[in-house]
Amino acid sequence: MQESTAGTTEAHLAGIAERSRAEAHPEQAFGSDPLTVRESDHYTNEYVKGFVEKWDELIDWRRRYESEGSFFVDLLRKHGCQSVLDVATGTGFHSVRLVEAGFDTTSADGSAEMLAKAFENGLEYGGHVLRVVHADWRWLNKDVHGKFDAVVCLGNSFTHLFSERDRRKALAEFYAVLKHDGILILDQRNYDSILDNGYSSKHTYYYCGEEVTAEPEYVDEGLARFRYQFADKSQYHLNMFPLRKDYVRRLLREVGFQQVDTYGDFQETYTADDPDFFIHVASKE
Ligand code: SAM
Repeated sequence: MQESTAGTTEAHLAGIAERSRAEAHPEQAFGSDPLTVRESDHYTNEYVKGFVEKWDELIDWRRRYESEGSFFVDLLRKHGCQSVLDVATGTGFHSVRLVEAGFDTTSADGSAEMLAKAFENGLEYGGHVLRVVHADWRWLNKDVHGKFDAVVCLGNSFTHLFSERDRRKALAEFYAVLKHDGILILDQRNYDSILDNGYSSKHTYYYCGEEVTAEPEYVDEGLARFRYQFADKSQYHLNMFPLRKDYVRRLLREVGFQQVDTYGDFQETYTADDPDFFIHVASKE
């Protein structure tokens, strides 16, 4: 069981919602040259209220639930996990899934806007009161106390970090919050394929919404700028760092994880170009 977690009271949540309103940018701000925006701090400006409201249309909870099946739940059970820290809660899809499966779940995110929506979704989908913590990964242990059996960083989130220093810092924080035999599950888009062969997607996993498109508008070795278009013609962008699979595996080892297993689209075997997403399972022992 996890020992203690700071900042999870109703009052704290009210604070989050308050900050969320204060931080709320009506529109995304990428400046006059969006291709120069390559900063780890920028994500809070990208998940603006309008985009957060649309996020669930993009991922389509029901279809995502069906396509993922019990992959993560099975994996966590196989490793004997009970306490799980979801560090990229977003609108709460995995946190709700994990709570429903009986895991002692804590839901963290650096975007107050996202956390407020996740809390709302927790109540809406099953009446769950999510235990939320507003925390940036790079200073995670400042806000999240206690040790967990597993940390999950899902939905292609780690891609928001633009410098190797920030990636190492975040991974070290994930490592530190894990028990001695804990595991980190971290996924990423198959950027190798996009960088080397151009973009194609089966559109089956993660972004499952039918009337939504998620496509790269610009890609180089230091930036993948994706455009998300919705049925009502609204569009938003995310600027992300195109992580290569073997680079992430190397970083995971270098921060101290002893074993790293990588799955492609929820399968143990895959051909290099085929999967849309990779899932790394890194173990401390
Ligand atoms: N996991 C969710 C899903 O699959 O729907 C959300 C994925 S969304 C692509 C990425 C999430 O990571 C956002 O909620 C964002 O606020 C969060 N995030 C990005 N960089 C972060 C950082 N440095 N610290 C904490 N959260 C961060």
